[in-house]
Formats: sequence, C-alpha cells, structure tokens
Amino acid sequence: MQAIDLFYPRLNTPAKVVITMHQKPDGDAMGSALGLYHFLTALGHEAVVISPTNWANFLDWMPGVDRVIDFERYRDKAKNLIQSAEIIFCLDFNILHRTKNMEQPLTEATCTKILIDHHQQPQEEAFAYGISDTSKSSTCEMVYDFIIASGHADKLNLDMAACLYTGLMTDTGSFRFPSTTAAVHRMAAHLKELGLNHTHVHEMIYDNFLEGRLRFIGYALLNRMEILYEYNTALMHITRQDLQRFDIKTGDTEGLVNYLLTIQGMRLGALVIDRDEERKWSFRSKGNFDVNLFARQHFEGGGHQNAAGGRSSDSLEATVQKFKTIIKTYQQQLQ
Ligand code: 5GP
Ligand code: MN
Repeated sequence: MQAIDLFYPRLNTPAKVVITMHQKPDGDAMGSALGLYHFLTALGHEAVVISPTNWANFLDWMPGVDRVIDFERYRDKAKNLIQSAEIIFCLDFNILHRTKNMEQPLTEATCTKILIDHHQQPQEEAFAYGISDTSKSSTCEMVYDFIIASGHADKLNLDMAACLYTGLMTDTGSFRFPSTTAAVHRMAAHLKELGLNHTHVHEMIYDNFLEGRLRFIGYALLNRMEILYEYNTALMHITRQDLQRFDIKTGDTEGLVNYLLTIQGMRLGALVIDRDEERKWSFRSKGNFDVNLFARQHFEGGGHQNAAGGRSSDSLEATVQKFKTIIKTYQQQLQ
C-alpha cells in the first residue's frame, strides 16, 4: 500500500468511483462515505456509494443517503458498478471481510483500491494506496484531512460538513473520548465556519428513535445486566425474544453498551446480542485495558483499544459462559 499523497494527482481526472464501508454502517462509516461522495462529485467524478448491508434509520436524514445502494437488495446492480469502477474507496474498515458478502466482488475487482481507515492491523496488501492511522478519531476526520491535504479545501460545502461532522461526533462519543484531539476541535470549528448546524446533526442522530427503543433499554438495564465487581466488568446479554418483543431494528442497539461504563469503577463493558446468524459482541473499556486484543484473541473480532466488537457461533448461553470463564484470567489487568 503506497502513501495516499501519491494518489492526489488522479483526483484531477474524472473517473468512475465506488465508495464503500463496513457492513451495518454506523455514523462514521456512512458519514465518511457520503462526505467523500459529495467531494468527488464536486470534482466531477462519477461516484456512487454502495453499502454492504442496510443501515439504521437514524442515518436516513443524511444528504445523499437516498442514492446509497444496499448491496444485499440490489446485488446485480452493485456488482456491475464494482466491476466497471476505475477506483474503489474502502472506508472505516481494515479488512475486506468486514464488508460481508461484498468481500468476493471487492477482492476480484482489479481497479485501484484505496483504504482510508483508523482500525488496527489493516490488510495492506489489498490496497494500492491508503492511509491507516489508529490515532485518528474517526474516518470522517481522515476524509476531511484528505480533502484539505489534496489541495481542495475550496470544495468543502454544507453537505460535506454535515456528513463529516456526523462521524466526528459519533466516533468521539460527542467529543469526550481520548481520541478527541485539538485537531478534532479545529475541524469542528472549520465546519461551523462553513455554516454547519451541529444541533440538527445531534438531534437527528440521538433524538430520533421510537418509543420501543427506550422501553427496551429500560428492560435490558433492569433484567439483562450483570455486574461482575471482582473484575470491574458490566455484562449484558440480549436474547432473540427481547429483540422481537420490542421490535428492535438495525441501529436501535447502538450505544447500549456505553451505559455499562457509566457505573462507577467499571473498566470493561461487554454486550452480546443474539442475532440471527451469530452472537454479536460489543466491548468498551476505560484506560489501558485493550478490548481490540481481547476481541481478537477470544471472539474473532477486533477494533480499537477502547472499543471493539466480535462474534461467536456458540449459543447465547455458551458464549456468556465462555466470557465469564475467560474474564477470570484478566482480573489483574482489570484492577
Ligand atoms: P461496535 O461495538 O460499535 O459494533 O464496534 C466497535 C468498534 O469495533 C468499531 O470500530 C467496529 O468497526 C469494530 N468492530 C466491531 N465488530 C468487529 C469485528 O467483528 N471485527 C473487527 N475487526 N472489528 C469490529
Ligand atoms: Mn470509525
């Protein structure tokens, strides 16, 4: 993978571009993809965003989201676009299998592939150019840097600002995680100068749920949370029946894991949800307990030091038991 600045000259020649991101895109994945989409379109490229799967309703206000193609719904169309693309941007993931069913078409595509991402251990050999920087708050920050560093700051507009602010806000936990650097605040200030309505973005992302989601959270906190004080760990498990009972949709469980770390003294929050195909884990930590390593070693996952995910093909009960057994070997690190 070559340095991204070697790619900048190609921005001046209009091309067919596909932009994609990890499956079940979150605010940072969708925000960076759409931010880049608006930028490339402004430069005269023929750009299209393809999402590997559907996404949460709370992203549906984003400028350009109505033109995003869901790979699972429009597979033939999406495959054709991937095959005829001259450039493919891969955003907010480190390894192609994070695009689920798109892994194969992406692997087979022979055009120029570019990575912009902030996760650890990128699959460098899969990309011609790229930038992988785990010190960056978000992929949205990296796309903003890309726009500025490539010499096109004059192209930044309100649509890009709203999209890029979204991931900057969600991936920093609204500007509170350690990744919130001075550069993050400078970027937010610049977007404000462009006319960004940040209150609108916050409300669309965080105050846009249906009643069932809040009642579900209440139920889960009351009935599905266990505090393992010896290990400074809070654990939550959500059953398939819970999801059905409260009519929980993609995105409704986003942020649930963060409640676990609001209890005094907790170092590790672990949430497992019984999804159709797998048991999906979300891990969050405070301080130097590395959940990226933990998820990699025990639950086929990864992510960042303080936020990671994983999976298990065991039953819900078995994967919870496995977690409780493993956590005993981390007692010291969790003090
Ligand atoms: P979340 O818990 O919000 O789904 O994910 C937290 C972080 O871990 C995100 O940066 C996400 O991209 C990453 N992540 C989640 N699940 C996986 C996984 O199965 N594998 C890897 N490598 N990263 C994951
Ligand atoms: Mn991200």
